[in-house]
Amino acid sequence: MSEQLPEPSRCRSCRAEIRWGKTQNGKNLPVDAEPAQAGTVVLDSHGGVVYAGVLIGAQLASVRRSTRPLYEPHWINCPDAKTWRK
Ligand SMILES: [Zn+2]
Repeated sequence: MSEQLPEPSRCRSCRAEIRWGKTQNGKNLPVDAEPAQAGTVVLDSHGGVVYAGVLIGAQLASVRRSTRPLYEPHWINCPDAKTWRK
């Protein structure tokens, strides 16, 4: 059972509401706080840690058919992404 996601934080550049998720590689991925139809990232909260799963292919298609929210990486929508994306 997934826990409730913590309160969103804010992007340091554009002040938009974002959420942070830890990827499989242990990196922190910022996503937009609100789910989006074009989203590719699922968030799962366990023990106070939010994990981000970046989906592709059949996995993504199957989540799109479900009611599970999908989030867009924030760098897609952040007007300042060029200044902080590495
Ligand atoms: Zn931003």
